[in-house]
Amino acid sequence: MSPAHSPAILQLAFRTPYANTLRIPPLPLSLPLHQQIDRCVMCGICSQHCPTYALSPNENESPRGRLALIAAINQGQLTPSTPLFEHLDHCLGCRACERACPSQVPFGEIMDQARDLLEPHRPGGQHLGKRIGHALLGHRRILRTALTGLRWAQKAGLSKAAGGIPPIPANPKWQRYYPPRGKTRGKVGLFLGCINETLGQDELRAAIRLLTCAGYGVHVPPQQTCCGAMHQHNGNIHAATGLAKQNLRAFENLQIEAILHTASGCTVMLQEYNKRVKSPPAQANAAAEFSAKTQDISHFLDTVQWPEHVQFSPLPVRVAVHSPCSLKHVLQQTAAPVRLLGNIPGIEPVELPDNGHCCGGAGSYMLTQPERAARLREDKLDALHRTQADILVTSNIGCALHLQAGLRERGREIEVLHPVTLLARQLTL
Ligand code: SF4
Ligand code: SF4
Repeated sequence: MSPAHSPAILQLAFRTPYANTLRIPPLPLSLPLHQQIDRCVMCGICSQHCPTYALSPNENESPRGRLALIAAINQGQLTPSTPLFEHLDHCLGCRACERACPSQVPFGEIMDQARDLLEPHRPGGQHLGKRIGHALLGHRRILRTALTGLRWAQKAGLSKAAGGIPPIPANPKWQRYYPPRGKTRGKVGLFLGCINETLGQDELRAAIRLLTCAGYGVHVPPQQTCCGAMHQHNGNIHAATGLAKQNLRAFENLQIEAILHTASGCTVMLQEYNKRVKSPPAQANAAAEFSAKTQDISHFLDTVQWPEHVQFSPLPVRVAVHSPCSLKHVLQQTAAPVRLLGNIPGIEPVELPDNGHCCGGAGSYMLTQPERAARLREDKLDALHRTQADILVTSNIGCALHLQAGLRERGREIEVLHPVTLLARQLTL
């Protein structure tokens, strides 16, 4: 967004109620970030792909408008205010705009940097719940203890969990290493995640079972921690970088060909550690190697040659396949789960008709913007209903929880699974 463009683009921002605060000190974005915003040519192609613009056709609710707001702050034309934060907070971080952009504006990175810059200036300070949440996610032992407490509260009937949280299972125990069954084909590392380690333990176990059956030894380093995505997307890049470095140490010195994960949202974060850790050089190299090795579990399993003794029993049902934004717009691997399920004889996988739009789960969005998240989910559940599917599969724990909650509200009895959970269930071994 060059200076020549600025007056025009600022007109967009000036239509907002906070346009009366000119000539304030700018909040300087880093030069590389400023150059990234500068790549925007204001064509508006991104807007037709933006779910928040579809909800509210207001320029400030579009990717182009949000870039204009960030640029205006950077130039000292706007001050951080409640309405400004609302427009930025409404962004789902789905990155549909980034994928559609012909100028390759790195919207996700720009938003993360802007939030990091702006968070200390949030009117009223940062929400206490957000601070506590970030602290919990980054401390695996404390998080596991908190989940155990929540589980007991649920069992005692003390917590209805606001209707959104499903019954919490017991915290799992993992071996450091799961040896392959039969002939060894290689070794991989498994990333557990934070909440996912407990709420997504079925898919993690399924991944281990499928990988070991396919001939892979699976390392599960106990020192690993949260990927840092929640911190990064909520204005705390420093904390996200610290968690990234801890994960680099946890997986270092393992002779593995891939680092695999079952939640595509976190997989994106892991795959972008090279953007987060840039110094010192040794850690930057480790981050680049870590990023290059990271893969979504379905994508990896889709490439393996199943040994002859591995068979899957038939399942003649229709399965709707939901594509999380992280898998669709960033990893761009939506075909892998569909192909993987094709290993099950008789199964009929169908892609959800409106897979291009976010379901509203979007990390912590379903908690911080519940009404908007529910509105986005309605379209998705209507689309699911039209498929007349018996099972819904999705590759991201956040989407699964959000969609499950919506189905419960509607009184629909459709099972929501990860693709690898369904595949492992059909193993005949
Ligand atoms: S598509 Fe890209 S260049 Fe066009 S307005 Fe959106 S961000 Fe800017
Ligand atoms: S990340 Fe998604 S919600 Fe945010 S501006 Fe881009 S398309 Fe819209």
